[in-house]
Amino acid sequence: MPGVNFDQIRAAVRIEDVLSLLGFEPSRRSGMQWYGRCPLPECGSARGESFSVNATLGRYCCHRCHSQGNALELWTAATQLPLHQAAVELCHRLGHAVPWVHRW
Ligand SMILES: [Zn+2]
Repeated sequence: MPGVNFDQIRAAVRIEDVLSLLGFEPSRRSGMQWYGRCPLPECGSARGESFSVNATLGRYCCHRCHSQGNALELWTAATQLPLHQAAVELCHRLGHAVPWVHRW
C-alpha cells in the first residue's frame, strides 16, 4: 500500500469530526473546552469527566487513561489500528480523499 501524507490528514481533520464518529457527547462545555466520558476502549465504561478536549487547539487528553494528542491520534487510539490504516479509514469515514504519497 502506498504511504499517506499524515500532515495533510492532520490539517484536514477536525477533532469535532473524530468525536462525532466516536459518538462523544460532552457532558460539560466551557467555551471551546469540552469535558465528558472518555470514548477510548481502554477506559471502558468509566464514568466521570476524565476526558477533555480543547477544540481551539484540536487536542484531547484523558487524565484517567493518560491518552492525549490530536484528532488523528484520538482516532488511532479509539480504533486501535496501526497509524497508517487508521488514517486511511478515517479519510474514508469522513469522505475525504486519501492523500496518498506515491514513491517511485
Ligand atoms: Zn481515557
